[in-house]
Amino acid sequence: MSAAPCAGPRPSGAPGARRETPATVTPHPYAARCAAALDEALAAAPFYRGWRERDPGPTRPVAERLAALPVLSRRELRAHVPDGFISGGSRARDGFASGAIEIVSTSGTTSERAAVVWHQPWWDASLRAAARLNPALEAVYGGAYREAVLTSPMCTGNLCHVGELPAAERTVGNILFLNQELDPARWGEAGARRMAAELAAFRPDVLEADPAYLAALARACRHAGVALHRPRCIALTYEFPSRLHLREIRRAFPGVPAVSSYGSTETGHVFIECEAGRLHQNTATCHVEIQPLRAGRGDPRVGRVLVTTLGNPWFALLRFDVGDLARLHDGPPCECGRGDGLTLAAIEGRVRDLTFDGEGRAVTVRQVDDALAAIEGLLGYRVEQAAPTRYLVRYVAEPATPAGIADELTARLRALYGPGAEVAARRESALAPEGSGKYRLAGTVGEWNPEELFA
Ligand SMILES: [Zn+2]
Repeated sequence: MSAAPCAGPRPSGAPGARRETPATVTPHPYAARCAAALDEALAAAPFYRGWRERDPGPTRPVAERLAALPVLSRRELRAHVPDGFISGGSRARDGFASGAIEIVSTSGTTSERAAVVWHQPWWDASLRAAARLNPALEAVYGGAYREAVLTSPMCTGNLCHVGELPAAERTVGNILFLNQELDPARWGEAGARRMAAELAAFRPDVLEADPAYLAALARACRHAGVALHRPRCIALTYEFPSRLHLREIRRAFPGVPAVSSYGSTETGHVFIECEAGRLHQNTATCHVEIQPLRAGRGDPRVGRVLVTTLGNPWFALLRFDVGDLARLHDGPPCECGRGDGLTLAAIEGRVRDLTFDGEGRAVTVRQVDDALAAIEGLLGYRVEQAAPTRYLVRYVAEPATPAGIADELTARLRALYGPGAEVAARRESALAPEGSGKYRLAGTVGEWNPEELFA
């Protein structure tokens, strides 16, 4: 990631890393592609007209040029799609007429909702390039494959399968969409058995899943005594993978690699977990900056993910704020040998799911998860911050879990948020996902301005 204005570590070969290089040396192909994407977007995409005067110009390193630009949010996408972000000189109506593009809308809260110009060949290229970052994914996506998808029916692009539908009507080409319910608590044993049977019949090579949904299916099948078909690999995506979910998934699919795949409908596939457990940037189709938390506002190795898309003339995004946080890997090069682009130690969860300790420092979902996930018998949790030092943790636990679990939860959260933290715990029978289909693991009750957090 090239961190934003070039704060933070920069990978070898990334833009900005060559700042000392004499101008006569041929630029690195990646830096050249980043510069080309920036030049084309500023010159041709109508939305960026107002950004041109902020650009220090092509003689400056591309990282410096990007850092001088504003951050792009979903609010601007909603207002300026489809024509605003087309950099190839075409008009959207021509793209619709030729079938090159369509509009995809994503669900969620108002701030999460987006309208995306979808160009399938670019998405496919992004997937193929991303798969090369992990051998288990490459083995599947490098050839013909069957894929099953388990996520909220609201999270699969334009496809929406809510309510009872036969498997044939939920199968699109080589892909079977398993889930029909907005809340996995409604599956019951019958729903879990149906999905297990469909997996056994369809025999997918890869199972692409929201980790919370797959953990719920794994647990339901464990209780029902039903074994799940083992695909060649599992791709975890859609939302932050809690260690609670990973534990249940690994138990249900022993020996099957479960690989985190990070991206979004807007940006394609951005980071893929390698066999060593770190995440590598997909430099073929995106450039990434990690804009760090301001000094004193949290861990400076953590920042928000800003993506610039490469090679998509129908949807040229510059510094798009995905709404998520990541932690840079700051050790020696990853032992897997991959060194292109940024290497992450972890994805840290959504910006809007941050909470704050007694000193006002940001606490990420991953930090909350690290504090709680080892608790025996814990199945799910949601931490709600109602005031600067007041927190409520709602949780779900295995039925036989002793009542002492509440003391353990509150003690661990006090250690995380500071000695002045008042923490209450409330046991629930279930925790439902939000309207977007994603589970919220943490968050504040009131609104706050995320812009003030980042350098
Ligand atoms: Zn690696």
